[in-house]
Amino acid sequence: MMKEVYSDIFQIEIPLAGNPLKAIYSYVILGDKTERPKQRVFYIVDTGFNSEACKQALLSGLEALGLKLENAKLIITHLHSDHSGLAAELNQSGTEILTGAIDGVMINNMTKDSYWEELEKRAIIMDLEKDGLAFNGHPGHKYCPKSEITFEPLKEGMVISIGQYTFNVIDIPGHTPGHIALYENKHKLMISGDHILDPITPNIAFWGFESNILEIYLNSLDKVRAMDIDMVLPSHRKIITDHVKRIDYLKEHHVERLEEVLSIITDYTSIRDTASQMHWSLRAKGWSDFPDPQKWFASGEAMSHLEYLYIKGKADRRKVGEILEYKARV
Ligand SMILES: [Zn+2]
Repeated sequence: MMKEVYSDIFQIEIPLAGNPLKAIYSYVILGDKTERPKQRVFYIVDTGFNSEACKQALLSGLEALGLKLENAKLIITHLHSDHSGLAAELNQSGTEILTGAIDGVMINNMTKDSYWEELEKRAIIMDLEKDGLAFNGHPGHKYCPKSEITFEPLKEGMVISIGQYTFNVIDIPGHTPGHIALYENKHKLMISGDHILDPITPNIAFWGFESNILEIYLNSLDKVRAMDIDMVLPSHRKIITDHVKRIDYLKEHHVERLEEVLSIITDYTSIRDTASQMHWSLRAKGWSDFPDPQKWFASGEAMSHLEYLYIKGKADRRKVGEILEYKARV
């Protein structure tokens, strides 16, 4: 499915089979209209998984627009496999790639086993060994690019001009460490990746002990909240026309999440056991019915909130063997 959502900006719906996200939107931004479609330069924003089905959906969207892949440049909003999956394949066939400086490096790290071995170590810290989780069950691993990409690193304030648009690169770390968005000042338009979603809430995972990623995400929400925007084009679900309202909802959601986590950790509790007691909008009877990928995401989300509470002095943390446990401070 493909439709024009704004003048010269098209949304290609790429199904994500078996994934609760259901689909991702690739955006196509057209260049100079005086060119014939076959010669017209254009940008693609995000690609779908590294899978044949996603590739076909993307290519048929481009075909419907009469565009030629050889005239494309690719922008990747962030490292997640549903956004970066086809990057290496397109890159190898000559497509130039632009992505955030931090996430670009991480996309290349994802092609190495060492990246996923580190993630597997995190399963131990999170107490997920109980569930027998291994990285090869992680959807990020299954659908990520399999070879490194060459990319132009995007930084805050850089300008991308295409057709009638002049986009500014905006750093919005949080959902991933180097997530970027594209902002068009004249049209008050933002292509926002997974920073703000509606009606679902973006997953805020744990990315390392050196930073408080939830706090970073909340700061990025404030940054975008203060911007003059009429339309947010996200990567999943609904287009957002009232970003202030949606951001206020998301901020409140995390406040409630933090309170929920505090109410669970009245005694020392592991990350996995915290996640299993949190409320999830997922049709499963209980933790044992959670599909493995959802156990990863839920535990990552629990950990970002637990670490936030620990860093803010609202929870204590201890290590039992390799497993981290947290307890609310009273
Ligand atoms: Zn994402």
